[in-house]
Amino acid sequence: MRTRIHRGAAEIGGSCVEVEASGQRILIDAGLPLNHPADASPILPDVASDSLCGIVISHPHLDHYGLLPWMPSVPVVMGATARRILLAAAPFMRKMSMNLSGPDLIDRKPIQIGPFCITPFLVDHSAYDAYALLIEADGKRLFYSGDFRAHGRKHGLVDKLIAHPPSDIDTLLLEGTTMSRAGQRTEPVSEHDLEEEFISRFLATKGLVLAHASAQNIDRMVSIYRACQRTGRTLVIDLYTAIILEATGNPRIPQSHWDRVALCVPKAQRIQIKRNGWFDELDRHSRHRIFPGRHLAKAPGNYVLLFRGLWMRDLEQAEVLAGACLIHSQWEGYLREPRFKEIEAWRERHGLHFCQIHTSGHASPEDLRRFAAALSPETLVPIHTIAPESFTSIFPRVVRHADGEWWEV
Ligand SMILES: [Zn+2]
Repeated sequence: MRTRIHRGAAEIGGSCVEVEASGQRILIDAGLPLNHPADASPILPDVASDSLCGIVISHPHLDHYGLLPWMPSVPVVMGATARRILLAAAPFMRKMSMNLSGPDLIDRKPIQIGPFCITPFLVDHSAYDAYALLIEADGKRLFYSGDFRAHGRKHGLVDKLIAHPPSDIDTLLLEGTTMSRAGQRTEPVSEHDLEEEFISRFLATKGLVLAHASAQNIDRMVSIYRACQRTGRTLVIDLYTAIILEATGNPRIPQSHWDRVALCVPKAQRIQIKRNGWFDELDRHSRHRIFPGRHLAKAPGNYVLLFRGLWMRDLEQAEVLAGACLIHSQWEGYLREPRFKEIEAWRERHGLHFCQIHTSGHASPEDLRRFAAALSPETLVPIHTIAPESFTSIFPRVVRHADGEWWEV
């Protein structure tokens, strides 16, 4: 079995790894680079499509699946819930049709794709239904960590993997998103601690709380919902969020019909609903429907609105922003992007209080060290990192391979 990283040896985003055995191949992830311009065609990995047996997507983040619209039509192997979330989100996104059909990854259940036996391990990450992957062929064992963390609501999954790791790993491809922060050995804030931070902020705010978080970060949705429950506020979601939460198919994840959840539809989304005839979807999620002028404006302090840029005009017009607060609950690097600059200008214009409440979707250097020590591979290859050179400072048997370089596992 031999392999090469197409992208990710010294980069976060655009992850793509090709694995070859017996003249056949698979791709592990087919991601879009994070800085990819919206309207340009991406650079595709140079893969012989006639011998490509499938594309395995470790988790539903764009930098791991975003090349799919341009890829050859082969089976796409991913978690069933991850697939449902992507299908649910697709109609709301820029027109991007992609093949998503193929077999499901099921936690710890080996699946055969051509000459490859793949065993997925469900992990804790900011994307839902995320897997690390054991890939076996030709008597060799390659372990791909995917993206993971050990401080989220599902940290038990990673604790279990560390306690009972697969043995005899030849190569571990280990993500190192946080390795550029290896100098700072501070414990990451847990998703659980974040809930307490949300509570403090909700209590300290008289008016409406705007929580700017990704609806697909399901752990975060749970933290915000729980903080609402504990402070007597109602979480206000739009139709997109309601549909994503529904797509989890998990009865323990907050839903539009739950107590302390309400649906409110911004104008831009009402237009989308009309244009696409999504009236059944709207009906299904309207049990607790509210309206900005009629409800938010009467008692803004009773609500936490899951905020996105398309809300700006509606909130302004409904005059609900006195004493409000905007919480940035995602990666702080986004604040430097143009669409966030626009939100920042809007926030300043309305004098909203601002704060950041966030924790990373990626394992800390210390958790990466524990993970690598448990798997104890013959060699460890850095991926999904801007600091591959720093790996030797905490891991033994590190071998670096550049993008495009083949090596034997
Ligand atoms: Zn990810």
